[in-house]
Amino acid sequence: MNRRPARHNRPQSPYRSAPDRRGVRQPIPLVQRRSFAYRHRQQRRRRIIALIVGAAILGLLLAILLWPKEEQDIPVVNPEISSEIISSEITSEVISSDPIDPEWERAYQVAAQVRLINFDHPNYDEPTKLVALDTLLSDTVTVNSGANYLEEEAALALKEMFDAADAAGITTYIVNSAYRDRATQQSFWDNRLAQNPEYGDDVYANPVKTVPAYASEHCTGLAVDILCDSVPHGTSDYQDTAEAKWLAENAHKYGFILRYPDGKSSVTGVIYEAWHYRYVGKEAAADIYQSGLCLEEYLASFGLPEANPAPASQKIKST
Ligand SMILES: [Zn+2]
Repeated sequence: MNRRPARHNRPQSPYRSAPDRRGVRQPIPLVQRRSFAYRHRQQRRRRIIALIVGAAILGLLLAILLWPKEEQDIPVVNPEISSEIISSEITSEVISSDPIDPEWERAYQVAAQVRLINFDHPNYDEPTKLVALDTLLSDTVTVNSGANYLEEEAALALKEMFDAADAAGITTYIVNSAYRDRATQQSFWDNRLAQNPEYGDDVYANPVKTVPAYASEHCTGLAVDILCDSVPHGTSDYQDTAEAKWLAENAHKYGFILRYPDGKSSVTGVIYEAWHYRYVGKEAAADIYQSGLCLEEYLASFGLPEANPAPASQKIKST
Protein backbone atom coordinates (compact mmCIF):
# COMPACT_ATOMS: atom_id res chain seq x y z
CA MET A 1 0.00 0.00 0.00
CA ASN A 2 1.21 3.37 -0.89
CA ARG A 3 0.92 5.22 2.42
CA ARG A 4 1.27 8.93 2.61
CA PRO A 5 3.89 10.15 5.06
CA ALA A 6 2.52 11.54 8.32
CA ARG A 7 1.42 15.12 8.10
CA HIS A 8 4.19 16.42 10.35
CA ASN A 9 6.72 14.68 8.16
CA ARG A 10 5.38 15.96 4.90
CA PRO A 11 7.06 19.36 4.90
CA GLN A 12 10.27 17.93 6.34
CA SER A 13 11.92 17.96 2.99
CA PRO A 14 10.88 18.94 -0.49
CA TYR A 15 9.77 15.63 -1.91
CA ARG A 16 10.83 15.01 -5.36
CA SER A 17 7.58 13.12 -5.98
CA ALA A 18 4.14 12.80 -4.43
CA PRO A 19 1.19 10.50 -5.08
CA ASP A 20 -1.61 12.04 -7.13
CA ARG A 21 -5.37 11.35 -6.74
CA ARG A 22 -5.00 7.97 -8.31
CA GLY A 23 -2.08 7.02 -6.11
CA VAL A 24 0.51 7.31 -8.86
CA ARG A 25 3.56 9.19 -7.77
CA GLN A 26 4.19 12.35 -9.78
CA PRO A 27 7.35 14.46 -9.69
CA ILE A 28 7.02 17.76 -7.80
CA PRO A 29 8.32 20.82 -9.56
CA LEU A 30 11.37 22.49 -8.02
CA VAL A 31 9.44 25.74 -7.35
CA GLN A 32 6.79 23.85 -5.44
CA ARG A 33 9.45 21.89 -3.56
CA ARG A 34 11.02 25.20 -2.56
CA SER A 35 7.68 26.45 -1.36
CA PHE A 36 7.42 23.29 0.78
CA ALA A 37 10.72 24.18 2.41
CA TYR A 38 9.61 27.74 2.89
CA ARG A 39 6.32 26.64 4.45
CA HIS A 40 8.24 24.21 6.69
CA ARG A 41 10.49 26.99 7.94
CA GLN A 42 7.50 29.25 8.48
CA GLN A 43 5.72 26.50 10.39
CA ARG A 44 8.81 25.86 12.54
CA ARG A 45 9.08 29.58 13.33
CA ARG A 46 5.42 29.70 14.32
CA ARG A 47 5.91 26.68 16.58
CA ILE A 48 8.93 28.27 18.27
CA ILE A 49 7.05 31.55 18.73
CA ALA A 50 4.01 29.66 20.10
CA LEU A 51 6.32 27.75 22.49
CA ILE A 52 7.91 31.01 23.73
CA VAL A 53 4.55 32.76 24.16
CA GLY A 54 3.09 29.70 25.90
CA ALA A 55 6.04 29.53 28.29
CA ALA A 56 5.76 33.26 28.98
CA ILE A 57 2.03 32.99 29.75
CA LEU A 58 2.63 29.97 32.01
CA GLY A 59 5.42 31.83 33.84
CA LEU A 60 3.19 34.87 34.29
CA LEU A 61 0.35 32.73 35.68
CA LEU A 62 2.72 30.98 38.11
CA ALA A 63 4.12 34.34 39.23
CA ILE A 64 0.61 35.68 39.91
CA LEU A 65 -0.40 32.54 41.83
CA LEU A 66 2.77 32.25 43.91
CA TRP A 67 3.46 35.95 44.57
CA PRO A 68 3.29 36.64 48.37
CA LYS A 69 0.01 38.35 49.14
CA GLU A 70 0.34 41.72 50.84
CA GLU A 71 -2.01 42.90 53.58
CA GLN A 72 -4.88 44.67 52.02
CA ASP A 73 -6.32 47.71 53.64
CA ILE A 74 -9.82 47.22 54.99
CA PRO A 75 -12.02 49.60 53.08
CA VAL A 76 -13.60 51.95 55.62
CA VAL A 77 -17.27 51.60 54.73
CA ASN A 78 -18.50 52.07 58.27
CA PRO A 79 -15.78 53.42 60.60
CA GLU A 80 -17.26 51.68 63.69
CA ILE A 81 -17.40 48.26 62.06
CA SER A 82 -13.95 48.52 60.59
CA SER A 83 -12.47 49.70 63.88
CA GLU A 84 -14.06 46.66 65.55
CA ILE A 85 -12.50 44.41 62.97
CA ILE A 86 -9.13 46.06 63.47
CA SER A 87 -9.30 45.89 67.27
CA SER A 88 -10.37 42.22 67.20
CA GLU A 89 -7.44 41.51 64.91
CA ILE A 90 -5.11 43.32 67.30
CA THR A 91 -6.53 41.43 70.32
CA SER A 92 -6.14 38.04 68.67
CA GLU A 93 -2.62 39.00 67.65
CA VAL A 94 -1.72 39.95 71.24
CA ILE A 95 -3.21 36.72 72.61
CA SER A 96 -1.45 34.55 70.06
CA SER A 97 1.90 36.26 70.60
CA ASP A 98 1.66 36.08 74.42
CA PRO A 99 -0.33 32.96 75.36
CA ILE A 100 -0.87 32.05 79.02
CA ASP A 101 1.62 29.31 79.83
CA PRO A 102 -0.45 26.41 81.24
CA GLU A 103 2.49 25.34 83.44
CA TRP A 104 2.73 28.85 84.93
CA GLU A 105 -1.03 28.90 85.47
CA ARG A 106 -0.89 25.53 87.27
CA ALA A 107 2.03 26.62 89.45
CA TYR A 108 0.29 29.93 90.24
CA GLN A 109 -2.92 28.18 91.31
CA VAL A 110 -0.88 25.90 93.58
CA ALA A 111 1.09 28.78 95.07
CA ALA A 112 -2.05 30.83 95.67
CA GLN A 113 -3.27 28.12 98.09
CA VAL A 114 -0.21 28.43 100.34
CA ARG A 115 -0.66 30.67 103.35
CA LEU A 116 2.29 32.86 104.26
CA ILE A 117 2.79 33.48 107.96
CA ASN A 118 5.65 35.67 109.18
CA PHE A 119 6.24 39.03 110.88
CA ASP A 120 4.68 40.89 107.97
CA HIS A 121 1.87 38.39 107.40
CA PRO A 122 0.32 37.68 110.79
CA ASN A 123 -2.08 34.88 111.53
CA TYR A 124 -4.91 34.95 114.05
CA ASP A 125 -6.83 31.90 112.83
CA GLU A 126 -7.07 28.75 114.88
CA PRO A 127 -6.60 25.22 113.43
CA THR A 128 -9.80 23.53 112.26
CA LYS A 129 -9.16 19.87 113.12
CA LEU A 130 -6.19 18.81 115.22
CA VAL A 131 -5.15 15.15 115.26
CA ALA A 132 -3.12 13.49 118.04
CA LEU A 133 0.27 12.34 116.79
CA ASP A 134 1.29 9.88 119.51
CA THR A 135 -1.45 7.42 118.54
CA LEU A 136 -1.15 8.10 114.81
CA LEU A 137 2.58 7.72 114.29
CA SER A 138 4.60 4.53 114.29
CA ASP A 139 6.31 3.47 117.54
CA THR A 140 9.69 4.18 115.99
CA VAL A 141 8.95 7.93 116.24
CA THR A 142 9.29 9.60 119.62
CA VAL A 143 6.61 12.23 120.23
CA ASN A 144 7.51 14.70 122.96
CA SER A 145 4.84 15.83 125.36
CA GLY A 146 3.50 19.18 124.25
CA ALA A 147 4.08 18.20 120.61
CA ASN A 148 1.02 16.13 120.20
CA TYR A 149 -1.14 17.70 117.54
CA LEU A 150 -1.18 18.74 113.90
CA GLU A 151 -3.97 19.67 111.51
CA GLU A 152 -5.40 16.43 110.15
CA GLU A 153 -4.02 16.68 106.60
CA ALA A 154 -0.55 17.59 107.86
CA ALA A 155 -0.68 14.82 110.49
CA LEU A 156 -1.52 12.15 107.88
CA ALA A 157 1.25 13.44 105.61
CA LEU A 158 3.68 13.31 108.56
CA LYS A 159 2.77 9.68 109.18
CA GLU A 160 3.34 8.88 105.50
CA MET A 161 6.75 10.58 105.69
CA PHE A 162 7.87 8.77 108.83
CA ASP A 163 6.68 5.43 107.40
CA ALA A 164 8.91 6.11 104.37
CA ALA A 165 11.81 7.00 106.70
CA ASP A 166 11.19 3.71 108.55
CA ALA A 167 11.37 1.86 105.24
CA ALA A 168 14.64 3.68 104.50
CA GLY A 169 16.00 2.42 107.85
CA ILE A 170 15.74 5.66 109.84
CA THR A 171 13.92 4.95 113.09
CA THR A 172 15.36 7.62 115.36
CA TYR A 173 13.21 10.68 114.75
CA ILE A 174 11.79 12.83 117.52
CA VAL A 175 8.78 15.08 117.06
CA ASN A 176 10.01 17.81 119.36
CA SER A 177 7.25 20.34 118.82
CA ALA A 178 4.11 20.60 116.68
CA TYR A 179 0.95 22.62 117.35
CA ARG A 180 1.27 25.27 120.05
CA ASP A 181 -1.64 27.28 121.36
CA ARG A 182 -1.26 31.02 121.09
CA ALA A 183 -0.72 31.61 124.82
CA THR A 184 2.18 29.13 124.94
CA GLN A 185 3.82 30.58 121.85
CA GLN A 186 3.37 34.15 123.08
CA SER A 187 4.92 33.24 126.45
CA PHE A 188 8.05 32.02 124.65
CA TRP A 189 8.29 35.39 122.93
CA ASP A 190 7.54 37.40 126.05
CA ASN A 191 10.20 35.53 128.01
CA ARG A 192 12.69 36.33 125.29
CA LEU A 193 11.71 40.02 125.35
CA ALA A 194 12.03 40.06 129.15
CA GLN A 195 15.71 39.20 128.65
CA ASN A 196 16.24 41.52 125.70
CA PRO A 197 13.56 44.17 124.99
CA GLU A 198 15.14 44.92 121.61
CA TYR A 199 14.92 41.32 120.43
CA GLY A 200 13.14 41.16 117.07
CA ASP A 201 13.21 44.89 116.41
CA ASP A 202 14.60 44.22 112.93
CA VAL A 203 14.27 40.52 112.20
CA TYR A 204 15.56 40.81 108.61
CA ALA A 205 18.84 42.33 109.81
CA ASN A 206 19.00 40.23 112.98
CA PRO A 207 17.00 37.01 112.39
CA VAL A 208 15.30 35.49 115.42
CA LYS A 209 14.83 32.00 116.76
CA THR A 210 11.56 32.59 118.60
CA VAL A 211 8.57 34.46 117.20
CA PRO A 212 5.37 35.89 118.70
CA ALA A 213 2.11 33.97 118.33
CA TYR A 214 0.89 35.99 115.34
CA ALA A 215 4.03 35.16 113.34
CA SER A 216 4.26 31.51 114.38
CA GLU A 217 3.41 28.64 112.06
CA HIS A 218 3.22 26.38 115.11
CA CYS A 219 -0.04 28.10 116.08
CA THR A 220 -1.60 26.97 112.78
CA GLY A 221 -1.01 23.24 113.35
CA LEU A 222 0.88 23.09 110.05
CA ALA A 223 4.45 23.18 111.39
CA VAL A 224 6.53 20.59 113.17
CA ASP A 225 10.03 20.56 114.64
CA ILE A 226 11.66 17.22 113.86
CA LEU A 227 14.87 16.20 115.62
CA CYS A 228 16.53 12.89 116.40
CA ASP A 229 17.88 10.74 119.22
CA SER A 230 21.48 11.94 118.76
CA VAL A 231 20.53 15.65 118.64
CA PRO A 232 17.23 16.02 120.52
CA HIS A 233 17.22 19.84 120.64
CA GLY A 234 17.25 22.51 117.97
CA THR A 235 20.94 23.23 117.59
CA SER A 236 23.22 23.55 114.56
CA ASP A 237 24.58 20.02 115.23
CA TYR A 238 21.34 18.60 113.88
CA GLN A 239 21.82 19.74 110.27
CA ASP A 240 24.67 17.25 109.73
CA THR A 241 22.80 14.18 110.98
CA ALA A 242 21.54 11.47 108.62
CA GLU A 243 18.03 12.22 109.88
CA ALA A 244 18.22 15.91 108.91
CA LYS A 245 19.72 15.07 105.54
CA TRP A 246 17.02 12.50 104.75
CA LEU A 247 14.32 15.05 105.56
CA ALA A 248 16.00 17.76 103.49
CA GLU A 249 16.01 15.45 100.47
CA ASN A 250 12.64 13.75 100.92
CA ALA A 251 10.19 15.87 102.95
CA HIS A 252 8.80 17.61 99.85
CA LYS A 253 7.51 14.26 98.56
CA TYR A 254 5.11 14.25 101.51
CA GLY A 255 4.12 17.93 101.33
CA PHE A 256 6.60 19.44 103.80
CA ILE A 257 9.16 22.18 103.16
CA LEU A 258 12.20 23.27 105.13
CA ARG A 259 10.68 26.59 106.12
CA TYR A 260 13.74 28.49 107.30
CA PRO A 261 16.57 27.35 105.00
CA ASP A 262 20.25 28.15 105.25
CA GLY A 263 21.14 31.47 103.61
CA LYS A 264 17.56 32.81 103.60
CA SER A 265 17.39 34.35 107.06
CA SER A 266 17.40 37.91 105.71
CA VAL A 267 14.21 37.00 103.83
CA THR A 268 12.43 34.84 106.42
CA GLY A 269 13.50 36.82 109.50
CA VAL A 270 14.22 33.51 111.25
CA ILE A 271 17.57 31.76 111.70
CA TYR A 272 18.38 28.59 109.73
CA GLU A 273 16.33 25.86 111.37
CA ALA A 274 17.12 22.44 109.94
CA TRP A 275 14.35 20.97 112.12
CA HIS A 276 11.36 23.22 111.33
CA TYR A 277 9.11 21.79 108.61
CA ARG A 278 5.93 23.37 107.31
CA TYR A 279 3.15 21.46 105.60
CA VAL A 280 2.10 23.11 102.29
CA GLY A 281 0.80 20.10 100.30
CA LYS A 282 2.70 17.84 97.94
CA GLU A 283 2.40 19.91 94.77
CA ALA A 284 3.53 23.18 96.35
CA ALA A 285 6.27 21.41 98.31
CA ALA A 286 7.62 19.83 95.11
CA ASP A 287 7.56 23.21 93.31
CA ILE A 288 9.31 24.97 96.20
CA TYR A 289 11.91 22.22 96.49
CA GLN A 290 12.62 22.41 92.75
CA SER A 291 12.84 26.21 92.85
CA GLY A 292 15.43 26.33 95.63
CA LEU A 293 13.57 29.36 96.99
CA CYS A 294 12.28 29.94 100.49
CA LEU A 295 8.52 30.34 100.92
CA GLU A 296 8.63 34.16 100.81
CA GLU A 297 10.65 34.15 97.57
CA TYR A 298 8.54 31.43 95.98
CA LEU A 299 5.28 33.29 96.63
CA ALA A 300 6.82 36.61 95.57
CA SER A 301 7.79 35.05 92.23
CA PHE A 302 4.02 34.83 91.53
CA GLY A 303 3.27 38.26 92.98
CA LEU A 304 1.86 36.57 96.10
CA PRO A 305 0.49 37.10 98.62
CA GLU A 306 -1.72 39.59 96.80
CA ALA A 307 -2.69 41.55 99.90
CA ASN A 308 -0.60 42.53 102.88
CA PRO A 309 -2.97 42.00 105.78
CA ALA A 310 -0.94 44.02 108.24
CA PRO A 311 2.30 46.00 108.26
CA ALA A 312 5.23 45.07 110.46
CA SER A 313 4.41 47.97 112.73
CA GLN A 314 1.53 45.93 114.14
CA LYS A 315 4.08 43.67 115.83
CA ILE A 316 2.80 42.74 119.26
CA LYS A 317 5.53 42.76 121.86
CA SER A 318 3.44 41.64 124.80
CA THR A 319 0.02 40.17 125.46
ZN1 LIG B 1 9.52 25.33 114.67
